[in-house]
Amino acid sequence: MPYKSIIVDREKCISAGSCVAVAPEVFELDGEGKAVVKNATGDSDEMILDAAKACPTLAITLIDSNGKQVVP
Ligand code: SF4
Repeated sequence: MPYKSIIVDREKCISAGSCVAVAPEVFELDGEGKAVVKNATGDSDEMILDAAKACPTLAITLIDSNGKQVVP
């Protein structure tokens, strides 16, 4: 089931790139080296979950379709 929201906190993002490595169709680094969501449904839900968990600064927030915050 697709996530309702995938949010990257730009203040917390340290450009580690882990999210891009794990879910390359969902996340990319912008011109400032910060992660952005390019396609919220580009990778599987599991990959998106793994990507969010892989973020060293917990900059990625996932909200499921019921409005529940899954990560962090
Ligand atoms: S893993 Fe976290 S810190 Fe690294 S680029 Fe993605 S959002 Fe930013």
